[in-house]
Amino acid sequence: MESVGGGNNSNLRDKILEPPFCSIVEVDTTSFSYLACSSCERPLPVDSPICRFCSKKCAFPAASKRLYRLLLSVATSETVLPVVCFDRAARVLIGCSADELFDFCKSHSSAAEMMGEIMEGEMLQMTLCETKKGNGKHLRVVSVVPLRTGFRPTIHTLRTLYGAVVSHRTST
Ligand SMILES: [Zn+2]
Repeated sequence: MESVGGGNNSNLRDKILEPPFCSIVEVDTTSFSYLACSSCERPLPVDSPICRFCSKKCAFPAASKRLYRLLLSVATSETVLPVVCFDRAARVLIGCSADELFDFCKSHSSAAEMMGEIMEGEMLQMTLCETKKGNGKHLRVVSVVPLRTGFRPTIHTLRTLYGAVVSHRTST
């Protein structure tokens, strides 16, 4: 008997790519995050703030938080690939939570565009996963390591540019 859909052998289904380097050629800054249930981290339905998975178990709907779903185009030595960074990978590049970035972009109207400009050209070592399920064409970024000496997460550059350095108040 053939076992169908056994979840453990995901490497039979998902192809892992490890190009020697990638450079970011484009960042989709129109939508870089989505609302998720803060308890189970599943995406919340667009039309309702109540988690379908937790609402049955909890008396009160769980609060929401933002998680990254950052779409990038990256160039390898051979081709240009569309990739998606979820929360863990995106945090490496951006350096703060999706909630913080969302708030920053809300109070600085051009910040999202600027974020794209800052990230473009960044050289990275990425592990990519070509998954058969899900919405197809984007490869999922499993891990990312910035290659540039002196790399700074994007939010640090943004804060410097907008003069919004978190003030460590010294009482002098
Ligand atoms: Zn939930």
